[in-house]
Amino acid sequence: MKTIVGCGLSGLATAVALSLKGEEVEILDRSSVFGSKFPESVHAFRNYSSSVDERDFIKMRGFSINFLKPIHKIVKIGPSSSPAETYSKDKPLFYATKRGDVKASLDRQLFEQADGLQVNFRLGEAAIPKEVDVIATGATFATEMGYGHHYKGVSVDGDTIIFFLNDDYAPKGYAYAIPYGKDEVSVVTTSFDPSTFNKMPALFKHLIEKVPVFSGLIDGAEKGPAFAKIGFSYIPDSAKLKEMLIVGEAAGFSEADRGFGMHYALESGFLAAKALTEKADYDALWKGAFEGELVKAFKRRLMLNRIGNAQYDQLINAGTNMSADEYVRYKETQNTSLIKQVLINLHTANEIRKLRKKFNIKQLNGRLWVPGAADSINPS
Ligand SMILES: Cc1cc2nc3c(=O)[nH]c(=O)nc-3n(C[C@H](O)[C@H](O)[C@H](O)COP(=O)(O)OP(=O)(O)OC[C@H]3O[C@@H](n4cnc5c(N)ncnc54)[C@H](O)[C@@H]3O)c2cc1C
Repeated sequence: MKTIVGCGLSGLATAVALSLKGEEVEILDRSSVFGSKFPESVHAFRNYSSSVDERDFIKMRGFSINFLKPIHKIVKIGPSSSPAETYSKDKPLFYATKRGDVKASLDRQLFEQADGLQVNFRLGEAAIPKEVDVIATGATFATEMGYGHHYKGVSVDGDTIIFFLNDDYAPKGYAYAIPYGKDEVSVVTTSFDPSTFNKMPALFKHLIEKVPVFSGLIDGAEKGPAFAKIGFSYIPDSAKLKEMLIVGEAAGFSEADRGFGMHYALESGFLAAKALTEKADYDALWKGAFEGELVKAFKRRLMLNRIGNAQYDQLINAGTNMSADEYVRYKETQNTSLIKQVLINLHTANEIRKLRKKFNIKQLNGRLWVPGAADSINPS
């Protein structure tokens, strides 16, 4: 019997992957309601600049996840420039998916797959210090925050994501609108500056009142409940606590520049199951699979932290045919001498060392086992 703590995406992915390998699995969650992290809303899998199409990746891993809506266009808006578009004719730039405990959501589909595989769910139970094999308890610390609402009854272009860079509304982050079909959209503003987290409701109000592209989108729509959720982007030295394997955002597996974490929740769950059933080294597996991606994203975060509104227009316009992330990556390598590359890498390594000192996931141990204590592991 393998025991998993945390019934979010990463815990469910681990449960499914372990069951597919013939293991008996139980999964517990302190919340008595499954899928309560997000109300009905839309997230997007990043598909641009991934070597494998996300839909194929999901299939390859054995997850029964459908209802992904391909999105081919992104409209990027800076503080004062006119919008710049990127369109990809063939490979979708993103796949939109529903979140929350609703029909056809990512959460619901994984839950149903796990249930069908006879996983034993123990909802309403906090982590207990007994034979836990996998820790999947979500963001351990807060490095970013998202605040938003989901809207129904809108009329939107279901093939386009709106991406808005402006520190007055999304400090060091970005605001976005992700459609799900033509009549639903989630609008969210994010911050990657913890000193502004308490201002998120006001920043969101400001966004939907003052920025026409967002106010126009949701005019007269039916508004769902607000969600204010933290994220944790980190690159651990090891994602193990003694013999326990840590998956998803509990380990900080999320891209530090934009906070994309769903892919890593699924992949780390799959790899944890592989490590447990094949007696392989989990750290070697996740590092081989995606540590490089996390480091690239962290490099872009370091660059984004250095720039602000004055550079965002330039960033968006000069990169008309690229996404903002691709542009930053391009700038990093364009005409960069070998010596400069070496300096960038040294700087990144130094910043990763500092990050590892600041957030130590070993602190999870000893606190996770006290009911409710994990709630207080989120300092700004
Ligand atoms: C606003 C917002 C928008 C996002 N948008 C995107 C996006 O568009 N694309 C993308 O790729 N990523 C996005 N992400 C990131 C993505 O949602 C996460 O990376 C992913 O959901 C993490 O899943 P997880 O299973 O690791 O953690 P969680 O989903 O947080 O699950 C953790 C579970 O553990 C339980 N738990 C915690 N402590 C205990 C305990 N002590 N005992 C028992 N149970 C416990 C919790 O109740 C919870 O159910 C977004 C994040 C936020 C905050």
